[in-house]
Amino acid sequence: MRDSEIKHLRRSCVSTQRDADGRIYRHRLHGLAFKGEGVHGAAATWIVTAPVARAVAVLERCQPADEPYLFAHPLKSANHQRHHIAGRVRTSATTIKDIAALAKWINTYCGVHARTDSIPEVGGHLPHLTTRKFRRTLAWFIARRPGGTIAGALQYRHQRIQMFEGYAGTSDSGFRDEVEAEEAFARGQFLASMGADDDRPALTGPAGAEAEARLAELARQTVFDGQVVTDEARLRRILARHDTHLYPGTFITCVYNPDRALCRTPAGAADQPVMADCQPLACRNTALTSANRQAMADHLARLEDALADRDRLAPYIHHRLEEQHHATAAFLTRHTLETAE
Ligand code: SF4
Repeated sequence: MRDSEIKHLRRSCVSTQRDADGRIYRHRLHGLAFKGEGVHGAAATWIVTAPVARAVAVLERCQPADEPYLFAHPLKSANHQRHHIAGRVRTSATTIKDIAALAKWINTYCGVHARTDSIPEVGGHLPHLTTRKFRRTLAWFIARRPGGTIAGALQYRHQRIQMFEGYAGTSDSGFRDEVEAEEAFARGQFLASMGADDDRPALTGPAGAEAEARLAELARQTVFDGQVVTDEARLRRILARHDTHLYPGTFITCVYNPDRALCRTPAGAADQPVMADCQPLACRNTALTSANRQAMADHLARLEDALADRDRLAPYIHHRLEEQHHATAAFLTRHTLETAE
């Protein structure tokens, strides 16, 4: 949510949905969205996590019962005494000042208690944090995910699904676009560093040779003197012009070609693969990096563990796992041999 959207939140803005046993399975936050909706905004609903619902409950308790806005000036504050007008909330400038004061307090506390986890300074000063930067920072982390590669850990996946599922209101939050732009850049950076690495093992699989050709073409655009362009703005421009349409995943790398993509439906958009519907063992767009081959080998070992416990598996499940094991092992053998040649 944008700062302006948060500041317009009112008392009782959270509603919940429960299952048949009374357990809460969804929290919804109701408010106003402002992107492209003029100064009055439009009614919108966000799906939020339980900590957000708890934060709203705390804010409701911090405000007097007759105060509708959650971010009105706190009752005892100097601002409330001086400028209280009904319906007036904290401005973005006040919040930015509060963030700066909090950051300063944290670093003073760390200094007094000899802690090393203070907020890093930039050029001898605390960074100037604005409310807008939080959205951008979150987009950056979601696009890259922790672990160093875009095929890495899925720590942010839960939040991501909730946020993308969540904008059920009349307005588009624009957050999806921010994350997708960041993801495209992260993907490009990852592939550019692959293209620059002459020592890595070759990609294998039905589309391995094509993947190598696309990486070589990318390297021609992004590598100078053996190094990927380090100027971020320049690299962003180059990558925007030269999309390889390579999509790294945990088990496979998709060398996207819409004409032979098994994940596409006739009605679906053709501009990118639907990785969630990937059919890696059958699709001719599949290529394998050494990390993909390792992930597949680990999966095979897990299948073997499950199959060893034959008595605890229903016959149908056992049969399906056996089929999967057979197909994965055959695929891996076929496309691992290529690397040894
Ligand atoms: S099925 Fe998998 S490999 Fe084939 S195009 Fe779709 S995502 Fe790529």
